[in-house]
Amino acid sequence: MTVGVLGGGQLGRMLALSGYPLGLSFLCLDPAVDAPAGQVAPLLRGAFTDTRLLRRLARRCEVVTFDWENVSVATLRSAMRGSGARLAPPLPALATGQDRVAEKRLFERLGIPTTRWQAVDSRDDLERALRRVGLPGVLKTRRLGYDGKGQAVVRDAPAAAAAWERLGGVPLLYEEWVPFDCEVSIIGARRRSGEIAVYPLCGNIHSGGVLRLTRAPWGAPRLQRLAAGHLRRMLEHFRYSGVLTIEFFVRGGRLLANELAPRVHNSGHWTIEGAVTSQFENHLRAILDLPLGSTAALGHAAMINFIGHMPARTALLSRPGLHLHDYGKQPRPGRKIGHCCLVETTAARRDARVRRLLAELAVGITLP
Ligand code: AMP
Repeated sequence: MTVGVLGGGQLGRMLALSGYPLGLSFLCLDPAVDAPAGQVAPLLRGAFTDTRLLRRLARRCEVVTFDWENVSVATLRSAMRGSGARLAPPLPALATGQDRVAEKRLFERLGIPTTRWQAVDSRDDLERALRRVGLPGVLKTRRLGYDGKGQAVVRDAPAAAAAWERLGGVPLLYEEWVPFDCEVSIIGARRRSGEIAVYPLCGNIHSGGVLRLTRAPWGAPRLQRLAAGHLRRMLEHFRYSGVLTIEFFVRGGRLLANELAPRVHNSGHWTIEGAVTSQFENHLRAILDLPLGSTAALGHAAMINFIGHMPARTALLSRPGLHLHDYGKQPRPGRKIGHCCLVETTAARRDARVRRLLAELAVGITLP
């Protein structure tokens, strides 16, 4: 059975690596010759907007999934038509995940608390949004934003003007700045037959809008129940198949949804070594409507992202129990090129090791 993957990044690569033991084959599509998934699976090279290429992919696969959200929904719909392949996760979830305004509306409709926000399409809209939502806030592009790209923090009127200069011209969204206590994400899988499995909550630290560290399990059981309830509602709403992620800000014990990702997620990489079944394997099980694997944690895990610079392999591998994932990418400033993961028997031991590692590897963040 062949799974088509739109996008041949590290997520596609980890999907393929987790699918081979299940007897699956993979075919990825990516514009880059050196796409990380191309080192482990056959790659069709070309643009995500190339309907003929997408059709070729769909005809050669039983199911098509994606590791990258910014694929044209219209192109995908037309390529899938009559191909005989199924698309999973469903197209409406992809469309929602591409548009921050659609995301906010859906959070509100499903009773999932989110930040105060306003759509901004003109300078007048921005003035209105500043009055209604208040300062400070964040101006974000509605589409094509990820890892903090396409955003500007607005602390006062001159900053609002500068943000408009930089981002204006495309549809935007303005939302309140949340002085959060921490950030968390919840990841879970649903298969067509309705079975759902949810992972322990992840505690995430970002820097410059990019995820740097995830620790899981994280937070009080009450927060886990709350987040899992929100995720289940979202999964049911879409009659979803595959893995879905929701990111939240935590403030005073409350969850405020920030965004959803209809795919496996960077904050779930710890599940490869830290959970009974990884998010990648569960995504494949879910899109193929196979029984889901246990999402239970095997201990207290931490995942550290390597951004722009890969520490020396020997230095990493000489540490007992430290697992290295090198995505085979050329290092560039700001680029995610790998991660490492450790699993300890207690949260205190894990945090002590993480503190030491962060200092020794000079990855640019410290633990509070
Ligand atoms: P996003 O691309 O929306 O996930 O934003 C990336 C990161 O920027 C988030 O994980 C936060 O660390 C930060 N951020 C984004 N929006 C806000 C906000 N409204 N208030 C505070 N921090 C934010």
